[in-house]
Amino acid sequence: MKINFKIVTYILGLISLVSIAFGYYYGSNTVLFSGVFLVVFTVFFHVFQASYEMFRKDKEIDYDMVSKLNLTLTTCSNCEKENVLEDKYCKFCGEELIK
Ligand SMILES: [Zn+2]
Repeated sequence: MKINFKIVTYILGLISLVSIAFGYYYGSNTVLFSGVFLVVFTVFFHVFQASYEMFRKDKEIDYDMVSKLNLTLTTCSNCEKENVLEDKYCKFCGEELIK
């Protein structure tokens, strides 16, 4: 199942802002603090999601770059995933790449 992390982040952010406003308006410290806690959690969640996205992109082969730099595509003998031969080691399992 694919979760859209951006939407989750927005919803979390919205809920936290609403609870801060609600807690402030009604003078409820419990609601106010849960709102603040949620804001902190949302920021962490966002950072986590952004770095996960970067990590995932890093594993994808940039075919434009491959053809531009005349790189060779190869399949890892260990995990059978596609790799750039010039990388020397498999991006997925770390196995040495051989022609
Ligand atoms: Zn591999």
